[in-house]
Amino acid sequence: MMRKTLKVLAAACVLFWIVDGCLLMRSEFPRPAPDPDPELSPRYSGAVHIHSTYSDGGGSVADIVRAGQKAGPDFLILTDHDTLQPRFDGHQGYHDGLLLLVGEEVNTSAGHLLALGVGRDVDQDGPLGLPALIDEISEAGGVSIAAHPTGRRPWTDWTVDRMDGLELLNANSDWRDDSVLELLRAVVFLPFLPDGVFNSLIDRPDEAIRLWMHRAQRQPVTVIGSLDAHERIKLWGERHLAFPTYERMFGLIRTYVITGMELTGDSGEDERILLDAIRRGSCYVVLEGYEPAPGFAFELTMGPETRSMGSTVAFQDGGRLHVTAPSSGPVRIRLYRNEVPLIETEGHELFVEVPGPGVYHTEVYQLRSTLLRGERQRLWIISNAIRVE
Ligand SMILES: [Zn+2]
Ligand SMILES: [Zn+2]
Repeated sequence: MMRKTLKVLAAACVLFWIVDGCLLMRSEFPRPAPDPDPELSPRYSGAVHIHSTYSDGGGSVADIVRAGQKAGPDFLILTDHDTLQPRFDGHQGYHDGLLLLVGEEVNTSAGHLLALGVGRDVDQDGPLGLPALIDEISEAGGVSIAAHPTGRRPWTDWTVDRMDGLELLNANSDWRDDSVLELLRAVVFLPFLPDGVFNSLIDRPDEAIRLWMHRAQRQPVTVIGSLDAHERIKLWGERHLAFPTYERMFGLIRTYVITGMELTGDSGEDERILLDAIRRGSCYVVLEGYEPAPGFAFELTMGPETRSMGSTVAFQDGGRLHVTAPSSGPVRIRLYRNEVPLIETEGHELFVEVPGPGVYHTEVYQLRSTLLRGERQRLWIISNAIRVE
């Protein structure tokens, strides 16, 4: 009798787990974006941090370009480990309208560093070490970004002044902090509801946000969303699995860059325009798998001037912060001052008077409900900061 009751109970638990998981994954479906306001400043979405067979990626540059053309970002940034060879081999440039930029992921004493927009191989073997490397990247007109700062191979040196920024999201690291049950659920539902499963694995990067805000108190810091796409999981011996695909990853997380001008079609010129905007923090991170965000804006109006993300502005009375996040579904906008939530609203727009100096950033959450769990808030957009001194 007792045994039978236990069996029924166990079966009920498993059934509940399956129903709950199924509803959860279905609630994480992708949504189409409403058409953006045509008056908006030009912006371009990019899939950043990609590995090819030039290092430990599973696909060739041609495979990556093909996946990019299917997934639809405006640009890709290839960053193979410790080599700029794809650039020397002429892969940088436009491929049927898709811009491929070639940077490098440099292995340094403090962790992995993305060196973007540098025309030559760089490393830190000189006697001056890491600071000299970062100076060299800056002087070459490049951008330096700490890769996966809270991942398995974290970034450990925050004293280097000229480093431009850090990765807030890294799709290859972010699922690793999920619980065993969450990962098991992901494996079970992957064949049936892959869009929902991939979205469900990316959560708010609390620790990376703390690191960012700590540094942003002192100086401007750019944040981007990265993929670390490899399309390759090592199994045993020489065997590997071509998973997750480049195409999937390019639709999962994007960095949108507000350039303030149209790209020209000349790859050298456009690399400079995009990287200048990234360096000054004129960009935002989007969990593209939920919904593209071509209409997002976070601005500060102070007197006659309107400034966007990446700006540092002197405080004056009467300044107003404005967030707009058009979406085809319900969202919640949360505005932070020095990492602490200041105000939030359920809606697609938020206005607030600037209460004083501080580092302001905003996060937008999609509201996704399920029958069993009620309403859940899922991270969708993280802005760069506006610093008010
Ligand atoms: Zn790395
Ligand atoms: Zn990498």
